[in-house]
Amino acid sequence: MSAVVTEDHRTESADTRPAEGPREGAFGNAVALSCRECGHRVGLGPFYACPECFGPLEVAYEFPAITREQIEAGPRNIWRYQALLPVPTDIESSPNTEPGFTRLLKADNLGRELGIENLWVKDDSTNPTNSFKDRVVACALSAARELGSKVFACPSTGNLANAVAAAGARAGIKTVVFIPSNLEQPKQVNSAIFTENLVAVDGNYDDVNKLASEIAGEEDGWAFVNVNVRPYYAEGSKTLGYEIAEQLGWRLPDQIVIPVASGSQLTKVDKAFQELIRLGLVEDKPYRVFGAQAEGCGPVATAFKADTDAIRPVKPDTIAKSLAIGNPADGIYVLDIARRTGGAVEEVTDEEIRAGIVQLARTEGIFTETAGGTTVAVTKKLVEAGVLDPTLETVVINTGHGLKTLDAVSGHVSAAATIAPSYTAFKATGI
Ligand SMILES: *Cc1c(COP(=O)(O)O)cnc(C)c1O
Ligand SMILES: [Zn+2]
Repeated sequence: MSAVVTEDHRTESADTRPAEGPREGAFGNAVALSCRECGHRVGLGPFYACPECFGPLEVAYEFPAITREQIEAGPRNIWRYQALLPVPTDIESSPNTEPGFTRLLKADNLGRELGIENLWVKDDSTNPTNSFKDRVVACALSAARELGSKVFACPSTGNLANAVAAAGARAGIKTVVFIPSNLEQPKQVNSAIFTENLVAVDGNYDDVNKLASEIAGEEDGWAFVNVNVRPYYAEGSKTLGYEIAEQLGWRLPDQIVIPVASGSQLTKVDKAFQELIRLGLVEDKPYRVFGAQAEGCGPVATAFKADTDAIRPVKPDTIAKSLAIGNPADGIYVLDIARRTGGAVEEVTDEEIRAGIVQLARTEGIFTETAGGTTVAVTKKLVEAGVLDPTLETVVINTGHGLKTLDAVSGHVSAAATIAPSYTAFKATGI
């Protein structure tokens, strides 16, 4: 036991800070890192595990009074919520990717098909590298910079690598990104275009993640966005929750459906809603949070349906590669939130995921990747099962762009006909 403690302590104190420590105000209104399990607090630094119980650390704040008007006067990107994030007040003065403030679309056509009266799609496919990961990476980049990191890195299921490579390029910091070698080709190209250091690992995401933890422990000055700066990184997902509330006219939705890989995004959207309530920025009201997984990697959905807290890790086998985390770090908190809010965690087959992609495209003109197909398909399944209430206002999050997962649907949609360039030939198609 003591050997483990020593080992871990050495890893975590691998000091990526300049000798004088972070500058005053480097993390905005954040005051400490606090253990999610035991509440133990440590100072703001490159730490991610509680020194007392190894629980995950998360950012704790002392918020001043914040008004809607102050936020509305900010830039049309996530930095309008600077006061609510672990980033400095002068965050806009350093190059970053300025993600966020993506469209919240009233989805009446999809709503009609699913039987939901009041449906919205939060479309995060329009972020700079076409997934919600630009939000978390922008926050991680700020932390890496304030901690004096020399290398900006990540293990990734694809989208994260794209976002890290692009943000690092813009910031002029060396990037190294690690992916499973069986990843979709478009996602590989979308990283390789921004960085010379794309490393494909023969293994699944959980293997890649383990390797990253090992490297983080050995090398000085490496900021692995979702490992040793994970507490700061994860806060970026809160901006999805803030934006949805602001775009609804400073209101919370009744129901929200969110895809689950590690579970971080879902837990942070809930944290965002809770903060907005506490700050008096929205009215307190009940809302239900639903998680979406693929059957080929549904450890949280399985635990939810078995009514247990024991999440059994799985070996992923699904077309939803961006959700293919077999051992989800925040899965237990996803279960807590789904149960506390009266939501659920559900899973769908690869066939249903494909159908979800096509349905969103043909009803709303949005081409989503497999994660979004999963979310749409789970929404449909939950309505049919009578779990999701079709009379309540519902938001579905589309987290990524379909051009990155073309293979998932390319054999399933195609030209209706190939014809000679003549009117007769066209008429013969019956279109
Ligand atoms: C990473 C990712 C998710 C899930 O994120 P977690 O916070 O790990 O649950 C969802 N959708 C897409 C497209 C992603 O890339
Ligand atoms: Zn602890």
